[in-house]
Amino acid sequence: MDGVVANPWSFPMSVPLAVILSSIGALTLALDAASVFFRILPFEVARYLIGAGGVFLIVNLLLARRLKERKIRPTSPDASQMRREFWSSLRTSAIFAFSAIFTVLGSKAGIMKAYDDPAALGWAYFAFSLGALIVLHDAWFYWTHRLIHDPRLFRRFHRLHHKSNNPSPWTAYSFDVGEAFVNTAFMPLALLVLPVSQLAIFLFLAHMIIRNAMGHSGYELFPSNRNGRPLFDWMTSVTHHDLHHAQAGWNYGLYFTWWDRMMGTEHPLYHEKFAAAVRAPLDGSAVRAIAERA
Ligand SMILES: [Zn+2]
Ligand SMILES: [Zn+2]
Repeated sequence: MDGVVANPWSFPMSVPLAVILSSIGALTLALDAASVFFRILPFEVARYLIGAGGVFLIVNLLLARRLKERKIRPTSPDASQMRREFWSSLRTSAIFAFSAIFTVLGSKAGIMKAYDDPAALGWAYFAFSLGALIVLHDAWFYWTHRLIHDPRLFRRFHRLHHKSNNPSPWTAYSFDVGEAFVNTAFMPLALLVLPVSQLAIFLFLAHMIIRNAMGHSGYELFPSNRNGRPLFDWMTSVTHHDLHHAQAGWNYGLYFTWWDRMMGTEHPLYHEKFAAAVRAPLDGSAVRAIAERA
C-alpha cells in the first residue's frame, strides 16, 4: 500500500494490468473447463448408451425368452417410462462430464492424483487402486443413498429414480439433478487421497454402468447354489436392487451386500425372493439363514 502511495504512477497502471491478467486467467480456465467438458461428454453419453443399451439389448431383448424363468416380476416397464429414464440419464451424463472438469484440471494442477501411465506405480498397485475405488464407491453410494431417502431430501434428490417402480436398464442414471451431483462427487473426492491411473478410472466407470444397468434389468442374472441361495452372496444381485425399487426402505447397497447386512437394512425376505427369481426351492439351509437374521 505504501508503495502505491509513494509512486503515483503505479496505481493507475497496475490496477488495469491486474484486471487484464486476472481476466485472461479466468478466461483460460473457462476455456480449459469447456474443452474438458466437451471432450468427456461424448465419452459419458457413450458409456450410458453402450452400458444401458447393451444390457437392454442382450438381456431384455435377445435373451428375454431364454431368461423368462428368471424374470423377477410378471410385468415389464412401458415405453414412456423408458423414454423418461433415457432423457434424464443423458442429463446425468452431462453432470458426470461437468464433474470431470474438477478431476482433469485438479490433476493437472497437482491437487488430485489421476495419472497417465497405468504401470507407473506398478500393476499390483493398479489392481489395488481399482478394487479400492469400487469398495469406496460402494460405501459412498450406500451412505449417500440412505441420506437421500430421508423424507426431507427424498423429493428433491431421489424421487425421479423411484418413479421407476419396476425398473429397466435405462433406469441406471435416471437421477434428479441433486442425486447426479451427489453420485459424481465421489470421483474428485477419491482422487484427493487415492492415486488412480486413467485406465483404472475407465475400468471403474465401465464396471459402474454395467453393474448398474444389470441391477435394473428385471431378470436375475446372478448364479445360485442348488438350494436357491446366491452363489456370490456378498454381491448385490438383481433381485437385491429390484426389491429396493419395489419396497424402498431396504437394500441400499450398490455392489456389495455387506453394508446392508452390517446396518440391518437388508430386506428380511431377500433370500426368499432371490430363490423365487431363480425358481429354485428354498431348502432347509436357506430357510434357516433367513430365520437366523429375522
Ligand atoms: Zn433409493
Ligand atoms: Zn435403482
